Amino acid sequence: MSKLELSILVADSSPPDLKSIKSFLVDDKDVKYNIETSLSGKDALEKATMDHVDLLLINDDQDGFQGVKILQDVIKKKIGVPVIMIVAEGAETHGVKAMDKGAYDFLTKNEAKTNALSRSIRRVMQRQKLENDIKKSLEKMEKLAIRDGLTGVYNRHHFKDVIKKEYKKAQRHVQPLSCIMLDLDHFKNTNDTHGHQFGDAVLVQAAKIMKKLVRDTDFVARYGGEEFFIILPNTELNGAYILAERMRLAFANNIFKKDDISEIVTVSIGVSTAADENIVSEYDLIANADKALYQAKWRGRNNVCSYEETTIKETNSISEDSGKIEDFHDKLRNLHENIKENCIESAHDILREIEKGWDYFNEHSIRVGRYAERLTKELSLSDEEIRTIRHAALLHDIGMVGISSKILKKKSKLSSDEYDVIKRHSNIGVKIVNKTRLFEKELPLILYHHERYDGSGYPHRLKGDAIPFGARVLAVAEAYDAMMNGTRYRKAYSSKEAISELKQCSGTQFDPQMVDAFITLIHRSK
Ligand code: GH3
Ligand code: MG
Ligand code: MG
Repeated sequence: MSKLELSILVADSSPPDLKSIKSFLVDDKDVKYNIETSLSGKDALEKATMDHVDLLLINDDQDGFQGVKILQDVIKKKIGVPVIMIVAEGAETHGVKAMDKGAYDFLTKNEAKTNALSRSIRRVMQRQKLENDIKKSLEKMEKLAIRDGLTGVYNRHHFKDVIKKEYKKAQRHVQPLSCIMLDLDHFKNTNDTHGHQFGDAVLVQAAKIMKKLVRDTDFVARYGGEEFFIILPNTELNGAYILAERMRLAFANNIFKKDDISEIVTVSIGVSTAADENIVSEYDLIANADKALYQAKWRGRNNVCSYEETTIKETNSISEDSGKIEDFHDKLRNLHENIKENCIESAHDILREIEKGWDYFNEHSIRVGRYAERLTKELSLSDEEIRTIRHAALLHDIGMVGISSKILKKKSKLSSDEYDVIKRHSNIGVKIVNKTRLFEKELPLILYHHERYDGSGYPHRLKGDAIPFGARVLAVAEAYDAMMNGTRYRKAYSSKEAISELKQCSGTQFDPQMVDAFITLIHRSK
C-alpha cells in the first residue's frame, strides 16, 4: 500500500524552534510528511490559502507570537485547514482556549516530542475526513431534495421556488421572462399499450430531449406525471415560442425505444410570458401557460400555442410587413379546407357504394354534423373550431366500415360481445382518418366521441374536462340524432322526449354545459 502523504505547514516566529518541531515530524511506515514552514502569521495564512496544506501546526509556546490570531484568521477566511496548537509547558489553558476557538487539538512542547504528535495528527486527519464526508453527503442530499427521482430534472417543489424568484428578478431588473408548459400526448395510451416501464423510459428520454434544447440558464422541471415546465429567464415570447416549436419537432421526429418496443410520442406545449396583459404574479404565468397548453391540446395535440393566441379569436401570427404571406397562407388554408371537404364527400360516396342500402354512416353523420355546427355556434367557438367539429362529426362513425355488416344490420338487440365489436369503431375511425394526414385536429374528437362525462365511456374512460371539448359537443349532437331517428329495435323519440333524456343524462353521460346550450338552441329553433 502506498504511504499517506501529508503536507504540514509549521508556523513559528523562531527559526531554531521551527527546526526543532520539524525534527519531531518523522516519517513512519505509513505516513510521509511534506513539511513547509512560516516565520510569520501573514506568511502562514498566505501559504495555507495558496498551497496545498493538509494541516497547520502552530507553535504558540512563546510570548509575542500570536498563534490564536492565526487560528482565528484561518477560521474567519474559511481556509478549511485543520489546526493543532503547540503550547508551552504549564500553559495548557492557552491550548484549551485555542480549541474553544476552533483548533482541532493542542499539545505541550514536551508532548510534541513524543509520538503523541503523530497520534494527534492521525486523529485530526480522521476527523477532517469525516467532516468532509458529512459535507459531501449533505450536498448530495440537498441536490436530491430538489430533483425528480425518475428524470433527474427539478421537481415541482423546487420549480415553485425558482419561478417565484425568477418572477421577482424579472420585475426588479425589468427583464423578460417566459415559460413553457409541455405535456406528453395520449400518454395514458402509451402506458396502457406498452406498460408503465416503457412509459417511465419515455419520461426519462423526454427530459433528456428538453435538457438538450435549453440553455444553461433555463430551468426544466417535472411539474406532474407527464407534464413538464420550463422557466426561461431573459426570454421574450418570440424566443420561447421558437424553442417550444423546436421541442415539438424534436419529439415528433424522435422514436422512443426500449428493448424491442418503439413508439413516437408527440407533445402539446403552452407558452406564457411575463408581458402577457393579465400577469400580476408568478401564478398567472403558470395559469397562462396551462391555458395555452389546453388550447394546444384542443387543436389536436402535437401543437404549440401561446397564451396570447388564446385571447385573440383569429390570430395574426406574423405581425410584420406580412400582407403577402398572410394572403398566401389564407389561400393555402382555403385549399386545405377544400381538400378536406372533398375528401369527406368522397368518403361518403365510397361508403355509399360499398355499403349499398346502409345509411348508418352517411345520413346520420350529415345530421350530426348539422347539429354539432349549430351547437358550436351557440357556444361561440372560433370559425376554425367550428370547422374542426363539423368535420369530425361528418367522420365520427367512419370506423363502422371495419365492423361486420352482420352486426351492423342485425335487427334484434346486440349481445355484449357484439357491442364490444361495435365499440372498436372509434379506434378504427382514427386509423383510417390518420392515413390521410389531413385531419389531425379532428382525430381526438373521432376517438373520444363515445366517452362519457362521468368517466364510464369508451375507448379510454376519460372523464369531465379530460374529454376533448369537441368530443363532448359530438356526444350530445350524436345522441340527439340517434334518439330522434330511432334504432333497429327502438322507435324514434319526439323532440320533447329526446330533450328530457338529454337532461336526465346531463352530468353523467353528457357535459351539462353542452346539454344546456343544445336545449337553448332547440327551443329557439321551434
Ligand atoms: P393528453 O394528450 O390529453 O395529455 O392525454 P394523456 O393520456 O397524456 O393524459 P392523461 O392526463 O389522461 O394521462 C396521463 C397519464 O400519464 C396517466 C398516467 O398513467 C401517466 N403517468 C403519469 N405519471 C407517470 C409516471 O411517472 N410513469 C408512467 N409510466 N406514467 C405516468
Ligand atoms: Mg396531463
Ligand atoms: Mg398528456
